[in-house]
Amino acid sequence: MAFQITEFHTIRKELESYNAKLIAVSKKKSIEDIQEAIDAGQKSFGENYVQELLDKESHFKKKTNWHFIGHLQSNKVKMIVPFVHLIQGVDSFKLLTEINKEGKKINKIIDCLLQVHIAQEETKFGFSEEEVEALMLFPELAELENIRIRGLMGMASLSSDASLLKKEFSSLKNLFNNSKLMSFDPDEFDTLSMGMSSDYKIALDCGSTMVRIGSTLFGERN
Ligand SMILES: *Cc1c(COP(=O)(O)O)cnc(C)c1O
Repeated sequence: MAFQITEFHTIRKELESYNAKLIAVSKKKSIEDIQEAIDAGQKSFGENYVQELLDKESHFKKKTNWHFIGHLQSNKVKMIVPFVHLIQGVDSFKLLTEINKEGKKINKIIDCLLQVHIAQEETKFGFSEEEVEALMLFPELAELENIRIRGLMGMASLSSDASLLKKEFSSLKNLFNNSKLMSFDPDEFDTLSMGMSSDYKIALDCGSTMVRIGSTLFGERN
């Protein structure tokens, strides 16, 4: 299935009134699909796998802003740091220090979001809300001069229960507000990435500033 241009324009229109940004999640989608999205005016894309991202980056170069939204292994940080626009899934202090180290080597400040575990499903990825608050007050964080924490990212439960999703997104928004106050530079702590194809409308109503949409734009993934 090709890029869904009608859906794209509908979503862009919806986002306008929230002043929210669209990340087109292109994982497992072809160069041709991405090109269609670029032709329609999309610039920011999200990818989950490092090798796939490297292949696509070498094709599109400066035509796209790449967001890494998957689980990033420390040993792969150096491969994406030179060009990545925002690393959304930072889920440990160790990973932050690794990103800082690689950023320093090339004299680049890397924008990151902390991933927070808000869903009911068990997963080993993501900070708990308590861990985020503790981290924001961590003195060592100030020493990581080559990272800039721009905000938080989270995924709600795989559920169609709107009241549950609302509860989870609202709680993330709350944590975002508190963390922003604790941030070294609250003006730069400006991104709350929440909402996917199935739940982005609820996320927007709960204060999302960035939605990550894949299947609605590109069709279901195999
Ligand atoms: C795949 C993915 C998305 C997009 O999911 P859709 O349901 O296809 O919109 C968003 N965020 C993350 C972190 C993902 O891995």
